[in-house]
Amino acid sequence: MDEIKDSEIEKTLNLPTLAKFKQMGPKIIDDLKQGVLVSINIKNFKYFNEVYSSEEGDWLLLFMMKFFITDNPDCVLGTRSYIDHILCLSEGGGLSESELKSKYADLAERFLHEVNRKYTRARVHLECGLYVVHKGEDFLKAQDNARYARRSIRNSYTTTVAFYRDELRKKSLEEAAVIPDFTNALENHEIIVLLQPKYSASSDTIVGAEALSRFKNSQGRLESPAIYVPVLEESGLIPELDRDVIFHVIDLQRKWMDMGKKLFPISVNLSRVDFYEKGFIEELERYADESGIPHWSIEFELTETAVVENLSTIVEALEMLSQKGYRIALDDFGAGYNSLYVLGKIPANVIKFDRGFVLYSIHNEIGKTILKNLIKTFREIRFEVLCEGVETEEEKKEIVACGCDVIQGYLYDKPLSIADFESKYIFRTEKAI
Ligand code: C2E
Ligand code: MG
Ligand code: MG
Repeated sequence: MDEIKDSEIEKTLNLPTLAKFKQMGPKIIDDLKQGVLVSINIKNFKYFNEVYSSEEGDWLLLFMMKFFITDNPDCVLGTRSYIDHILCLSEGGGLSESELKSKYADLAERFLHEVNRKYTRARVHLECGLYVVHKGEDFLKAQDNARYARRSIRNSYTTTVAFYRDELRKKSLEEAAVIPDFTNALENHEIIVLLQPKYSASSDTIVGAEALSRFKNSQGRLESPAIYVPVLEESGLIPELDRDVIFHVIDLQRKWMDMGKKLFPISVNLSRVDFYEKGFIEELERYADESGIPHWSIEFELTETAVVENLSTIVEALEMLSQKGYRIALDDFGAGYNSLYVLGKIPANVIKFDRGFVLYSIHNEIGKTILKNLIKTFREIRFEVLCEGVETEEEKKEIVACGCDVIQGYLYDKPLSIADFESKYIFRTEKAI
């Protein structure tokens, strides 16, 4: 990772640069009873900057470095390793893993309490990774291990502290194989598109579908999006995947249209990284226009987390797509920041409730009341509401009682191959668009 130049913030606190930290760390460890490397990151720093200002963002960084480095009696050396990431070398004092974990969880909680009391519009989240360094151990590898630990909870909003485990390094190697496997699949036109139907619960008929990608790895096994999507996002390759999937869906809609079949919207997942690629959205629009399919037959799904990472750019692009008649869905609602602020900003047609959120809600009375009222409010505004991941009749019954009509989940179908989808949903339906 690139080192940030000595900025005003570091100077104010008189902190070493990352290079100095790497140099001094191994020597300091020898004097400690138990060296602990702590890697800390603010999860939604960009969002904080968008909601407040870059000056307040600077305040937050300064406060974080003071809190975890200079004012933390356990920290013997600390530095900023990236924009909103810090690394601390701390004295563990011989505590056990669980004692260290709860110590840092308490520290993180105190920090978050201070920040979120002062700034109420953006709930700040932290991720901390811990690694106990042994004397004489490769210091760079030890830093990586603290980082692996931190990254293992990057998708969690409930866990703030994690310890390094050897499996995390293994997972990282698995991730390293993703890029060549993906590039191969893309070049050989072997990206697989699955379609999962969305149903109206009241009429028990299909009202749309979502396109989900897959590809085979070098051992011939289908990779899970949970592994490859984050890797492709980080490496900047995700637009290649998303373009392939979207073109595929446009081609399918065109084919069905030519056959006189009834069309329904098919959604495709976009990543925030797609919006950084110049000309990406325009290229999709061109392809759709050349094919002549109706714009409403394509729906773009974006997660709340994706939107908040780069609010203004994404909102602008979505506004444009929405004005042209494309549909927009806010995916995984309830899994991320839960910021109602975002809802007011994006021109979404659909809010997709995350499976975890739905399950949590329907299993207790308070949750049900919240879900019911959220659905009511969303529908009153202008949104369609869909519940994801519905697996049983029981779950369906609860959700319908809360006012949700559109359902996507194994109860109806798993994501299907295009051939299976066509034989079940397209070739059986009557003609006419
Ligand atoms: P998502 O967009 O929220 O998609 C729904 C996920 O829930 C899919 O997982 C689907 O298979 C799964 N699912 C559907 N019904 C049920 C159910 O009843 N129970 C359970 N437990 N799960 C259910 P999948 O296909 O593994 O995809 C995971 C995520 O990866 C997607 O979540 C989406 O965010 C991302 N993704 C998948 N394909 C693409 C792609 O081509 N491009 C991008 N950018 N992201 C993709
Ligand atoms: Mg989705
Ligand atoms: Mg989802």
